[in-house]
Amino acid sequence: MDDNRRHDKPLDTALTLILDQVSTIADHGMQPLEDCLGHILRQDVIARIDVPQQDTAAVDGYAFYAEDIAHGNPSLPVVGSIKAGHPYQGKAERGAAYRIFTGAPMPAGPDTVAMEEYCTVGKDGKITLPEGIRKGSNFRPGGENVRTGDIVLRAGTRLGPSEIGLAAAVGEHQLDVFLPLKVALLSMGDEVCEAGSPAGFDEGMIHDSNRPMLKALMISDNLRVVDGGIIPDDRATLTKAFANQLTAADVLVTSGGSSAGEEDHARQAIIDNGGGIDFWRLAMKPGRPMAVGRIGDKYVFCLPGNPVAAFVCYRLLVAPVLKRLQGGNIEPVMKITVPAGFAHQHKPGRAEFLRAKLVAKDDGRISVTLHGRAGAGVLSSLTGADGLVEIPADIGNVKEGDPLPFIPLREPSL
Ligand code: AMP
Ligand code: MG
Repeated sequence: MDDNRRHDKPLDTALTLILDQVSTIADHGMQPLEDCLGHILRQDVIARIDVPQQDTAAVDGYAFYAEDIAHGNPSLPVVGSIKAGHPYQGKAERGAAYRIFTGAPMPAGPDTVAMEEYCTVGKDGKITLPEGIRKGSNFRPGGENVRTGDIVLRAGTRLGPSEIGLAAAVGEHQLDVFLPLKVALLSMGDEVCEAGSPAGFDEGMIHDSNRPMLKALMISDNLRVVDGGIIPDDRATLTKAFANQLTAADVLVTSGGSSAGEEDHARQAIIDNGGGIDFWRLAMKPGRPMAVGRIGDKYVFCLPGNPVAAFVCYRLLVAPVLKRLQGGNIEPVMKITVPAGFAHQHKPGRAEFLRAKLVAKDDGRISVTLHGRAGAGVLSSLTGADGLVEIPADIGNVKEGDPLPFIPLREPSL
């Protein structure tokens, strides 16, 4: 191996190293359920009731005792009607059927519901029930969904729409959640300028795509972004900017200026603020010039300037750490093994993460293909990609059909 690369950290090693050091720093508080989306739950939610609370009809139809039609004659008189929200008082008669609507509590006694569509009402007003209907059909037993005492949601879970629905189902109208961390975000580079900046777009400049992109990633991770703007490649200015940003924020994330060049001052700005570097350089492509350090007890993540590298490093390394700092449980990144639909030259040594799409062949089998042009700066390779295909560090050239780990980056459409 190139001696220069000997100390580059594999992504997993780097992630474990930091995750082992960090614990929750976010504040917490009770929030109304409607404000909980995206927050991380601080406490287990334990059901104080059964859901549903009692046996309820799963269809519109007729409730009856299965035994009453077990010996021929499937016709019964209809002697009552039970609507959702209006429990039947008293015990139901034998030898009779009860009109019942979806969600209505089963009357005491009957054990079966016949679907309306399979029943016929006779001239005598009796209902003829379908033959051979199984005892216990078409009702939801009480507690089918949740039993009293069940832990329905675990502390550390990020609350999505279904978690919020389940919390409401067990009667919680507010939850104890971690509040968003404040993350300062700044871009670095003399050539970097704001999209739409009034100064116009001079030769040699490049629009800041990292900051809006990273801000969007952070907002979707329920972080509060403190916008630190664009800082020129000047060591003293950068050092001051780092200190300033950290007075208002819990964490600092930067992009650009983290390589080894003369104009790359990110690591130095950490050191000049009395901080230290936990590690620098990942054994991965894109994303090698990634540094993680601390100023006081606050983390500073210096992402590479190349936009694809910044995106990949954020998603695979920074996002899990921020989630842990916010009180979240970390699950290993989902990797699905799929056959390569491409050939690729690769020297063992560092992992590559290429933008990829999943495609179904005529026979329905899925393979993974490369998406967009290669290159750490080619942001258009990320738009429209389904995820990243990993070329693991320890393998050589890839040929078509070789199994490779695929990391989904977006939810399937719908
Ligand atoms: P650096 O990491 O500073 O060496 O930058 C690597 C490459 O990324 C250079 O081509 C920069 O111009 C580009 N770059 C740096 N910061 C940004 C940014 N905020 N938005 C878009 N491109 C950037
Ligand atoms: Mg630069």
